[in-house]
Amino acid sequence: MLKFKCKDVGFECNFVAKGKTEDEILSQCAIHATRDHGMKQEDITDELRGKIKANIHKSLF
Ligand SMILES: [Zn+2]
Repeated sequence: MLKFKCKDVGFECNFVAKGKTEDEILSQCAIHATRDHGMKQEDITDELRGKIKANIHKSLF
């Protein structure tokens, strides 16, 4: 199980994405960012994706 915390990239936010692959996490983050942070599809840049990937951690839970 992989896990990503939104607050690890600097948001005041308790969202945690969980998934089996980086792609799953990234797509959950894209939905979350647009829905809960008012971001647009084009705001989700490769740079942001890279930041997210760098903060994905393995988790046993
Ligand atoms: Zn968030």
